[in-house]
Amino acid sequence: MTNPDSPTDVVVVCDGAGRTFGTGAAAIVALQGATAQLRRGDRIALMGQSGSGKSTLLHLLAGLDLATTGSVSWPGIGRRSTLRPGPVGIVFQAPSLIPALDVLENVALPLVLMGKRGPDATNAAAEALERLAIGDLADKLPEELSGGQAQRVSIARVLAHEPILILADEPTGQLDHEAARTVIDALIEAADTTNAALVVSTHDPDIAAQFATRWSVTDGRLTTAQQGDSGEVLCSA
Ligand code: ADP
Ligand code: MG
Repeated sequence: MTNPDSPTDVVVVCDGAGRTFGTGAAAIVALQGATAQLRRGDRIALMGQSGSGKSTLLHLLAGLDLATTGSVSWPGIGRRSTLRPGPVGIVFQAPSLIPALDVLENVALPLVLMGKRGPDATNAAAEALERLAIGDLADKLPEELSGGQAQRVSIARVLAHEPILILADEPTGQLDHEAARTVIDALIEAADTTNAALVVSTHDPDIAAQFATRWSVTDGRLTTAQQGDSGEVLCSA
């Protein structure tokens, strides 16, 4: 459980964050006035139509992109330069595994790049695969995996570096219903393992229904809402 009194539990804070692409008449306001915070242990489904601003928000939360108005900060982590690889793990719609490396090597690679010794990286990678119940895939090449398996490997790759914030941008967008379910289960398992905050963007109402807290973006405006104990939806923005 998170302790609401501990400031270090607050992983990321958006304070009126916005992002405009381009300038003048060609400017596109992708996100405006987003105010929200995430604590360790939070589980959020991020809903919104295509082009509504989900990826823009996730990129700001990940520190991959900079807000053009307002601010984003990471009280429980530190400066933006310290986010990746390490405390922040990102899962994209396409798993982007390296074709020439087997699954174990794919999962170990970020750890090696972070300076872990080879055997330690291999052990941590094997542990992450086991945790997600895909240890049997360790020797396979990416081309031998189904879409759902490849996505679970990309989640293991994130889990191996023990993130405290996991951001998944339509991770099930290319998967059938059954594979999507295993991927969401893997994300929740990964987040549980390190008590990370988890945000998953999705179009799929069945997936969103698995999350107690749902945020939605409409035309660049974020609404944060949460399922109350009695089932009502509480809006806070
Ligand atoms: P979603 O992920 O919900 O589909 P995005 O966050 O990708 O939406 O995009 C929100 C809006 O910002 C869209 O109108 C999109 O075309 C625009 N946009 C996103 N990225 C860029 C960019 N790099 N340059 C210009 N416009 C962009
Ligand atoms: Mg998107």
